Amino acid sequence: MDISIVGTGYVGLPAGAGLASKGNHNVTCVDIDEEKVEKINNGECPIYEEDLPELLEKMVEDGKLSATTNTSDAVHNSEITFLAVGTPMQEDGSINLDYIKQAAEDIGEGLRDKEEYHVVVVKSTVVPGTTENEVIPRIEEKSGKKAGEDFGVCMNPEFLREGTALNDFLNPDRIVIGELDEKSGSKIEEMYSAFDVPKIRTSLQAAELIKYASNSLLATKISFINEIGNLCKELNIDVYEVADGVGLDHRINRDFLDSGAGFGGSCFPKDVRALASFMEEKNLDPKILNDTIQVNEEQKTKLVEQLQDHYPDLSGKTIAVLGLAFKPGTDDIRQSPAIDIISELKYLGAEVKAYDPKAIENMKQKHPEIQYTSNYEEALKDADAALIVTDWKEFNQISREDLQEMNKALILEGRRMEYKIDKENRKGVTWP
Ligand code: NAD
Repeated sequence: MDISIVGTGYVGLPAGAGLASKGNHNVTCVDIDEEKVEKINNGECPIYEEDLPELLEKMVEDGKLSATTNTSDAVHNSEITFLAVGTPMQEDGSINLDYIKQAAEDIGEGLRDKEEYHVVVVKSTVVPGTTENEVIPRIEEKSGKKAGEDFGVCMNPEFLREGTALNDFLNPDRIVIGELDEKSGSKIEEMYSAFDVPKIRTSLQAAELIKYASNSLLATKISFINEIGNLCKELNIDVYEVADGVGLDHRINRDFLDSGAGFGGSCFPKDVRALASFMEEKNLDPKILNDTIQVNEEQKTKLVEQLQDHYPDLSGKTIAVLGLAFKPGTDDIRQSPAIDIISELKYLGAEVKAYDPKAIENMKQKHPEIQYTSNYEEALKDADAALIVTDWKEFNQISREDLQEMNKALILEGRRMEYKIDKENRKGVTWP
């Protein structure tokens, strides 16, 4: 099938490359960012994601994938269009639909002179009702066509994780297809025929809510284990032993019970907040969601509080911050705990030396004032302490020799590490 994808970011690009390879479809990626489009057409991957650069290069070479800035043309020349633009958070926590609205209008323009049946699929995470109340009316107005008659509409949420985005897209647990009508849903189910996984057909609104409920439950699991972890710290218990014991219960499962310095990223913080804000608009009190957010906010700077147990006055102290991305395997720093930790350290007068294998350029935009190093050894040298905020595998190679280069051999772990250094030199945020 010929597919266009409007919005070529962390979701749109892996989905595009994935559909071109696994589904054997012809994909046109659309973005307003000219530099991104040019890179893709040269076979270069504009984001850091495992295995994506190789597949993207191959798909471009094989003529299965190309990119453009022209939405109208891409829509006109395809039979299915995915809408995968960003849905960031506004200051008050609610969802910002500006990109969605604009992209819906652009898609409508592309459909105006098109005779053949076309299905528009919302892939961005949007609060229930958005597809029906915001996307469809805009497409109808710009195209002069009627949804459910002249064109089809689906809502197909994406569950991939950054860092393993391509693999997750290619091997999902399930595919959720919210449909305006049966014809639209069947077309998208057929498009996914190469994906041998359960496919759930729902209403548009149920599909929209499935995404928020999934992300909110996962985020709640993390805040829950962090709360238990804070108790473990008091009691000198290892929270990982507790998580293992709890997680072996198949009703609970061990995933997302890794306690640490709080969750970040472009999804959990914004999605939990957006759902809470949406519930408040409906005069409902999102108690669990609000607590999930609150526990996470407090968790993010726990490492700095614990550092102050060693240095009540941090002014003039040099602190190495290892790991800036919100998790390993990505260059994405959106809502990363490292942002708040660096702000707090600077506020308390510390000098910060930071290192990350992939995310330094992105963090420079947020924190241009600190020193960045080109490896962890340099960051550790002469530091009064180090904080590990992202568990990149390479930090497991930190050795006793590296610690000897520090002013004080002290590592506070915001993520559980597997390196072989002495117990007295390492402390966990929620474990001894
Ligand atoms: P992103 O910011 O990485 O990418 C969005 C892209 O859309 C950008 O490249 C931007 O230039 C482009 N864009 C904006 N307006 C446009 C327009 N009118 N026409 C064409 N392109 C336009 O965002 P993302 O992380 O890929 O997220 C996209 C959506 O998917 C969001 O709703 C997000 O919540 C959801 N989601 C994200 C993830 C994730 O891990 N990042 C996972 C699942 C779902």
